[in-house]
Amino acid sequence: MKIVFVNVFFVNGSEGPGGNWVLVDAGLYGSAHRIKKVAEERFGRGARPSAIILTHGHFDHVGALKELAMEWNVPIYAHHLEIPYLTGLSSYPPPDPSVGGGGMAFMSFMYPKKPIELGGMVQPLPADGSVPGLPEWSWYHTPGHTAGHVSFFRERDRTLIAGDAITTRKPESVLAVITDEPEVCGPPSYFTPDWTAAKISVQNIASLRPNVIATGHGIPMHGERMIDELNELARMFDEIAVPAHGRYVGHPAIMDEQGVVSLPEPVSSTTNKVLITAGLVTVAGLAAYAISKRKHNGNGQHSKLNSPLDTHIYYGEEMNLSVYGEIPDSREVHNFHQDNRPTNDFP
Ligand SMILES: [Zn+2]
Ligand SMILES: [Zn+2]
Repeated sequence: MKIVFVNVFFVNGSEGPGGNWVLVDAGLYGSAHRIKKVAEERFGRGARPSAIILTHGHFDHVGALKELAMEWNVPIYAHHLEIPYLTGLSSYPPPDPSVGGGGMAFMSFMYPKKPIELGGMVQPLPADGSVPGLPEWSWYHTPGHTAGHVSFFRERDRTLIAGDAITTRKPESVLAVITDEPEVCGPPSYFTPDWTAAKISVQNIASLRPNVIATGHGIPMHGERMIDELNELARMFDEIAVPAHGRYVGHPAIMDEQGVVSLPEPVSSTTNKVLITAGLVTVAGLAAYAISKRKHNGNGQHSKLNSPLDTHIYYGEEMNLSVYGEIPDSREVHNFHQDNRPTNDFP
């Protein structure tokens, strides 16, 4: 089964007819057609953005990038420290399977062996913090998950696109998937090679005091609970987000303008197996717990899923930002994107 688990963002640069828009991130490999279709639904036939801008270059954010950039003939922008991984100069630090339990295992089969090679198609983001095509937005360097990870912030309404610097669910947790309950979490631990930098980035994000956060994984969040959880995450990052053990915990990968400089030793495979097994057992336990909890709630209602569906539309329409991708409930997909196709038919 193919699963949609990553978001892309359509952001208006200027109001009114003829106004430009920008695509932030480019989803999974094979999703170009769907992205184009949603773009045309939103912006009209033959619509193309003025640029494609990346939060970072992980495979689940650049899958359709080459195809879209070539077809649209538009520039791609990324942080200069991210460019080695987009031009074939370096591979990302390998993921750490000893963290994050077994839940992320399903992603590993999609993890490409070779880095994407964009050559001259990708350019560094302007050094002054401006975002090409989006005059109201600024980019902020939020490294840790990757060396050149950036987040985008619009001061006017304090909207933040945080990429994978934070997520709004626990990507490793089956429980979170089952209950669909959004929660402000740290970056996906499986792919995060510098936890100290990741912590500082979350603290910097919290200090921006965003009203709305839209992340690479999970649904957009806003309001008091989001603010409380974000502040809590910034304050207790080590306890909440950093895995207890792991290849990069306490030993970050060292990276520079050329890419990876040095890596810590991998966690030994025996430890690894024990941890993964422990992870699977935990996951199975949590799943059983979640199912029994669900039964208690009766007729499948999500006890805490009172996330305001209309608010998603509100943010989509009023804030000139739409999020396309992993919306865990088909009603939300319908409301937010006027798109009622099932979420699992993503190519
Ligand atoms: Zn990522
Ligand atoms: Zn991601």
